[in-house]
Amino acid sequence: MKQFEVPIIYRSPLITAIKKKRKEMDKMKKDFTPTHLDLGLLHIYLARHFGFCYGVENAIEIAEMIHNPQVNADLQAHGVKFLQDTQGTTLIPFDELKPEDIVLIPAFGTTLEIEKKLHQLGIRIEEYNTTCPFVEKVWNRSEAIAKDRYTIIIHGKPKHEETRATFSHASVHSPSVIVKDMAQTNELAKYITGEKPSSMFYEEFKGQYSNGFDVEKDLQRIGVVNQTTMLASDTQAIADFLKQTMTGKYQLNAEHSEEHFADTRDTLCYATNDNQNAVIAMLETNADLAIVVGGYNSSNTSHLVELCEEKLPTYFINNEEKILSGNQILHYNFHTKEEMLTRDYIPETRPVKILLTSGASCPDALVEGVIKKMAGFYQKENSIERLIEEFSY
Ligand code: SF4
Repeated sequence: MKQFEVPIIYRSPLITAIKKKRKEMDKMKKDFTPTHLDLGLLHIYLARHFGFCYGVENAIEIAEMIHNPQVNADLQAHGVKFLQDTQGTTLIPFDELKPEDIVLIPAFGTTLEIEKKLHQLGIRIEEYNTTCPFVEKVWNRSEAIAKDRYTIIIHGKPKHEETRATFSHASVHSPSVIVKDMAQTNELAKYITGEKPSSMFYEEFKGQYSNGFDVEKDLQRIGVVNQTTMLASDTQAIADFLKQTMTGKYQLNAEHSEEHFADTRDTLCYATNDNQNAVIAMLETNADLAIVVGGYNSSNTSHLVELCEEKLPTYFINNEEKILSGNQILHYNFHTKEEMLTRDYIPETRPVKILLTSGASCPDALVEGVIKKMAGFYQKENSIERLIEEFSY
């Protein structure tokens, strides 16, 4: 894959040395065990894969907006203004734009409606379109499924920019519906089996189905694609369940399932898979707590948190400043969407063992900041330099 020159402010000498060393030792990316950082009374286990993905580095190179508050604040300081917030709410009306303005399309891509509006305003978007190729791959998959006359079921967060963009691109080719989770998939299945009357669908899935969607006709042949950053196990469970629903309804055996269900692989991107697999491997280490660093509205980061939470106390923070002291941490609860304060988050046991990872839009500099802050509580300030040396040979 193409290599990018990430701006120095996002880089970390320590993380760069660690990633380089791990890459050299494991060129085929087969070893998912975490990197052990021995800081005396503090042991940190750093996930094998984390941080900036291809799409984010590509977008930053073209000057980009991503789900990371530090990166976005930096862009705003350079005069970049946001036209919409992450929910799609207008911040600057499009009619204030002039043909000479430069509009950047984010890595998530955008809807065909927005592309059209920008074209009508005379704005050229091609040069500054940072849509990630892995998102475009989902659009291509949708088109392929549509060509075979399947309705497209999109597993994603209905309000997320990427899912809105995928929905827009998919629905020009075929009827499309978004399901946000297994609970909603269960409800969708009831319309497939006829357990629920079609008339209820339109209210229940309001804002999540394409224009002219016909429940009777459009749920007879279906295929699933997903937002690139969903939890792999959720996506698999949803696809398996829908396949089972279709084979049950039409009394099909495995060889004939494609008559009603497009049997394709998930559309998660490589970074989602690598980062989630690295967390799963990291969780095999016995530890006291996990820290996950990333933007609070970042989908891929929240799934890493979800995986860790199942196993041990997990603190989701967006930078090291949220670690207030060795006793207090301010962290985000993505279930309630609130930041909360936890006291005595570090247990009495020594050495303290911490699992650490970050999301695909999180600069490595922030992860190094967390390591330094934690090391500081154990009077190990110099140890970072020692670690850099250690990983540089
Ligand atoms: S998370 Fe995946 S799809 Fe999203 S920008 Fe990164 S590489 Fe692309």
